[in-house]
Amino acid sequence: MRLGALETGGTKMVCAIGDENGRIHDRKVIPTGTPRETVPQMTAYFGEHGVEALGIGCFGPVELDRTSPRYGYITSTPKKAWRDFDMAGAFADALHCPVGLDTDVNAAALGEAVFGQAAGKGVVVYLTVGTGVGAGIYTEGKLLHGMLHPEAGHVLIRRKESDGYAGNCPYHRDCLEGLASGPAIEERWGEKAALLADRAEVWELEADYIAQALMGYILTLSPEMIILGGGVMRQEQLFPMIRRNVARLLNGYIQTKELADMDRYIVPASLAGDQGIMGALELARQAFAASRADKK
Ligand code: ADP
Ligand code: ZN
Repeated sequence: MRLGALETGGTKMVCAIGDENGRIHDRKVIPTGTPRETVPQMTAYFGEHGVEALGIGCFGPVELDRTSPRYGYITSTPKKAWRDFDMAGAFADALHCPVGLDTDVNAAALGEAVFGQAAGKGVVVYLTVGTGVGAGIYTEGKLLHGMLHPEAGHVLIRRKESDGYAGNCPYHRDCLEGLASGPAIEERWGEKAALLADRAEVWELEADYIAQALMGYILTLSPEMIILGGGVMRQEQLFPMIRRNVARLLNGYIQTKELADMDRYIVPASLAGDQGIMGALELARQAFAASRADKK
């Protein structure tokens, strides 16, 4: 099956052609401009390759309620040119094929759950810590949506007394994203995050904040695996620190085989940066299957 996959980003759009087995045959990166500049380049690419369905992992928030007239719209994004843009509709109109759309982090969670290290697991959390903080949640075999989609990057955590930084979330100030995103690290310490690698206090604080959020996800969602991605997680020393902090916070309250093997419970992404695009291939496959079922 010839499937199209799109991973949207603030700086670039990654377009790929692949199949239902998660194999990627071709890809093209297009710089993100306005929809008017960027969308025709993307639809031309997918059109040339004759895709039978398209999956989109989209920055958000996005409307995912299929009964809403605004299904597939980007809603209140800070990327102004894309606000209120009918993302799913623009591609469906141009390509005349089924289009599946979900959040970028949900797509990454799906890629890991279907094609990656989390294959076979029922409940998986994928947290990205980058320019923003967001979580994709795969639960009992499908992505979690509910009334909207999870926005678990904005959960409240306890700010350390020693932390003089107020937080930068425009909505909540010192939520997880406000305290632990790449830009928050850079504002707090006055230096590019990548250049702070050997400052132990930077990563101790970061690991504490991430672990607090993971504690909440563990207790509410009961995930069988937690995958951490995004630019900030390139600081690999964070992983053992986060695992230690999670164990300390849980304090033996729950005991499972997963928690007993922390090195395989809280892990880096496994698909070499392709988890989002592979998840988008699966979204395309699902959209194709759903359109077939509708026709019967
Ligand atoms: P985005 O979230 O925009 O899709 P990334 O996941 O790459 O992109 O996140 C970018 C953020 O990650 C930047 O704020 C940057 O500070 C941070 N970052 C990128 N590389 C590193 C690194 N090697 N170490 C720590 N932080 C990094
Ligand atoms: Zn927030």
